[in-house]
Amino acid sequence: VGATPEQQAAIDELASQFLLSDERLGAIIKEFRRRMEEGLAADGKVLKMIPSYVTRRPLGTETGTYFAIDLGGTNLRVLKVTFDGKGGAATEYQKFVLSEEAKNRTLFDFVAQSVDTFLEERNLRPTGQQPPMPMGLTFSYPVLQTSINSGTLVQWTKGLNVPGCVGRDVVRLLQDALLRLGLRVKIVALVNDTVGTLLSAAYRDPTAQMGIIFGTGTNAAYYEDVTSIAKWKGPSPSSGEMVLNMEWGAFDSDDFSYLPFTPHDIKLDRKSINPRKQAYEKMISGLYLGEIARNIILWLVDQRLLLEGRSSEILNAMWSIDTSYLSSGAVDTSPDLTEIQQVIEKTLNINNSTFVDRQIFKVVAILVGERAARLSAVGVVATLNKRPHLLNSPITVGIDGSMYEHYPYFHEILVETVSHFIPRESFENINFTLAKDGSGVGAAITAMLAATYD
Ligand code: ADP
Repeated sequence: VGATPEQQAAIDELASQFLLSDERLGAIIKEFRRRMEEGLAADGKVLKMIPSYVTRRPLGTETGTYFAIDLGGTNLRVLKVTFDGKGGAATEYQKFVLSEEAKNRTLFDFVAQSVDTFLEERNLRPTGQQPPMPMGLTFSYPVLQTSINSGTLVQWTKGLNVPGCVGRDVVRLLQDALLRLGLRVKIVALVNDTVGTLLSAAYRDPTAQMGIIFGTGTNAAYYEDVTSIAKWKGPSPSSGEMVLNMEWGAFDSDDFSYLPFTPHDIKLDRKSINPRKQAYEKMISGLYLGEIARNIILWLVDQRLLLEGRSSEILNAMWSIDTSYLSSGAVDTSPDLTEIQQVIEKTLNINNSTFVDRQIFKVVAILVGERAARLSAVGVVATLNKRPHLLNSPITVGIDGSMYEHYPYFHEILVETVSHFIPRESFENINFTLAKDGSGVGAAITAMLAATYD
């Protein structure tokens, strides 16, 4: 309402870039599947399809108290998890916000110190007479797993950049830091956060087949038939299956030819700490969507199509728009769009926005979110269609992350899009559930299962 023809033309252009047809998505799904097969056959491909060494499922009947460390993109959590034997887990945890220094330099000492604080405050710190306390570690960065409790870091993602870690065993790095503190804690299992999410969903529900994160970054894990993992040279597990960490955020990073790159995406990629990497993740996850929107907003401002061409120091600064602002903007239904007005005027420090400015802001938030949710379905469909026989009976997909939990209509758009690519009877067997904070609970499960791996 009230937009000029020039404004309307710019919105139309954005819509044509960000609204993806099913046909377009179908082509991307096909390529995604091809990349999965490639990653199953050999190391070093775009989709890493990393064997996790997790070959068991929890039964849901196990009991006991286990500890875990969950190292995510924004936070570090130390957890104490008590399993009730009926699929339920009572979690006590403490959050530690990663300081800039930790993110860029002292990460493992920071983690060790946080574990110490957690145990000390609860009077749980093992004494010299006690055996080391076993702990599971969830680590949500790409690691080439070398056993259930070791793995080398492939690269940092999601804004972490600690020198001297790529190519080294992250469990060893942490174990050394724990040793420096004299803390008697032994890391007995290393899992990716998606693997943890899947395991925690599986403790609650034995039909869980897939775990996904849509948070700071995005990634997924699923149970694969070991005979389908051509590159696996290890012993065949008695269960016949193994969880694979797909590292799907890297999809299309090598040739940038399938995902719908816009100039706004390219600009983000170029200025990111990992250019030409994590292409899929950069269109889907929380760390990036605000920045894509910021690029679009500046593009409009610079053509004098928004805010009378005015910007601000804050709006000019990279990463100044948090994805949570898009979340609230996309569902602002107040008559004057007051939520958006607050963001523009208070957060971005630009005064006197017009109603049309706010409407355009809302459209940008919706377009960026809608594209993210539609593209999220690509990986889900490609993975579920990989083992179609599993869809003959009910299966559960456990999903965690702020994007899934909070972005308006993310769940609805994701599910609706998946339904367009999977036959109806099969689709009806899929149960998408929120596996909240599953990654940490999953690490505690692996600490519990660690003794039983073959
Ligand atoms: P992590 O992936 O680090 O474990 P989260 O799942 O909480 O943690 O994801 C954090 C990311 O989600 C951040 O990039 C943040 O910008 C984004 N985020 C936080 N709140 C919201 C929200 N309400 N809507 C959409 N994105 C959000």
